[in-house]
Amino acid sequence: MISTKAIVLSRKKVAEGDVIINLLTAKQGKLRAYVNGARNPKSRFASATQPFSEGEFSLFLNKDLARLSEVQMIQSHLNIRSDMEKIFLATYMMELLELALADGELIEGLYARVAYALTALEETRRLQLFKTVYDLKVIDLMGYQPTLFFCSMCGSESDLTTYLSVQHGGVVCQNCRTRCTDCAPFVLQDLKWINFVLKKSFKTIQQVDISDTMLLKIATWTNRFIEAHVVRRPLKSLKLLKI
Ligand SMILES: [Zn+2]
Repeated sequence: MISTKAIVLSRKKVAEGDVIINLLTAKQGKLRAYVNGARNPKSRFASATQPFSEGEFSLFLNKDLARLSEVQMIQSHLNIRSDMEKIFLATYMMELLELALADGELIEGLYARVAYALTALEETRRLQLFKTVYDLKVIDLMGYQPTLFFCSMCGSESDLTTYLSVQHGGVVCQNCRTRCTDCAPFVLQDLKWINFVLKKSFKTIQQVDISDTMLLKIATWTNRFIEAHVVRRPLKSLKLLKI
């Protein structure tokens, strides 16, 4: 048995009032756990097994499916649950992790970053900015970064343009631009902003000013980058987001 902090990524109904939850745990990465009786509102597991709740979970580990023994709630994130837009965004944040991570995959620093982000989401009013920063910071930790300093098609460091390709994952050089089928025009300021987000802490970026037009352009490209390279399929929860 292990005891670990964990955040509930998703919850699926199974027979007899039970559920299976997907967890991002601090110690064991992503894992699935069977929870007896969680759909009974009186169950001590009922609220702590809701998506994006954070708790201290005691789990019996099995090969494919752990079993929940005990849980102490740390954060139920009520300020997210009382705002529909924030529920959709938190659901998206959880789906991204669920699809991007393999079972048992543990990434250094990821748990702390996601726990921080959920707490920060309670207070934020700039949801589009928040989402784009979250996307870039989280995929960066997972090892996916838009290529900004060399051509994503040929590797050249010279004659770089400010065109970004989703398929190739970043900027292209002047030579390759003519062969690039999905290149979208950006300006240097956009690329500098992406680099700034990758370098600075989550907290610093929340206070940075960015125009809505620029943000929308970067956010849209980042969504497509994530679907192409990180989760490699469409994200269902993205459709519910108006941002
Ligand atoms: Zn090139």
